Amino acid sequence: MSSDVLGEVNDDVAEWANEKIKEIKELQSKDDFRKEFVGNLSHELKTPLFSLQGYLETLQDNPNLDIEVRDRFLERALQSSERLSDLVADLDEISKLESGNVPLQLSRFELITLAKEITESLEKSAGKNCIQLFVKSEPNQEIWVLADRKRIAQVLSNLVVNSINYGQLNGTTKIRFYDMNDTILVEVADNGIGISKGHLPRLFERFYRVDKSRSRHEGGSGLGLAICKHIIETHNQTISVRSTEEVGSTFAFTLQKA
Ligand code: ADP
Repeated sequence: MSSDVLGEVNDDVAEWANEKIKEIKELQSKDDFRKEFVGNLSHELKTPLFSLQGYLETLQDNPNLDIEVRDRFLERALQSSERLSDLVADLDEISKLESGNVPLQLSRFELITLAKEITESLEKSAGKNCIQLFVKSEPNQEIWVLADRKRIAQVLSNLVVNSINYGQLNGTTKIRFYDMNDTILVEVADNGIGISKGHLPRLFERFYRVDKSRSRHEGGSGLGLAICKHIIETHNQTISVRSTEEVGSTFAFTLQKA
C-alpha cells in the first residue's frame, strides 16, 4: 500500500510539474508576443511622427520659404498627421475588439446593398489607380444576413481598399456571393500583384506586411486584415485567403443567413 501511495504522489508531482512547465511556456510566449507588439507599434508610429516633425521644423527654420514650397510642406505634414490618426483609430478598434467590451450590434440586413454602398464610396480612389469595382449579383437579387452591419461594412471596405492598393493598373475587383446552406460566402477577388505562398499563413497577423516599403509608402497601418479577422471571428464565422503572385488574390468570409 505504502509503495502505491508513494507512486501516486510521484505521479501527482510529475503531473503538477508538467502543468507548471506548460503555464510558464504560455506566459513566455505571451510575453514575446507583447514585446513584438510594442516593438512593431513604436516602429509604425515613428515613421509618420518623424516626417511630421521634419516638415514642421523646416517650416519653422525657414520663415521666408517660397509660398508654393511652404504649402507643399504643410500638405505633407497634414498627410503624416492623418496617417498617425488612422493608425491610432485602427489600434483603438483592435483593442476594443480584443477586450470583448463592445458587443456586436446584430441586425438583419441586405448584403448586396451594403456591398454597393462600399464600392460606390471607394470608386474615386479606385479610379485614381485605374481599377474598376464590381458587385456581382442578379437583377433584383436580395441576400439577407444576420450580422453587425457597421462592422461588416468595415471588413468589406478594408478588403476593397487593399484590392485597390495592391492592384495592377486597369485591374478589376469583384465582390461575389455564394449560398452555402446556413451561411453566405462573400468573396472579394482582385487581379492585382498577388501574394506568394510563404506569406499567406501570417497575413492576418497584426502589422504583418509582405512588402514593408511598399505598404508604408501607400499609408496602410498593417492592421486592416487583423481587424477583419477579429470582426469575422467575433461573429463565429471564418475568413480565408487564396492568392497567386502576379495573378491576384481572393479573400473570402462567411456570414450567417437571416
Ligand atoms: P496594410 O495596411 O499594410 O494594407 P493589411 O493588414 O490590410 O495591412 O494587409 C497586410 C498585408 O497583406 C499588406 O501589407 C499586403 O502586403 C498584403 N495584402 C493585403 N491585401 C492584399 C491584396 N488584395 N493583394 C496583395 N497583397 C495584399
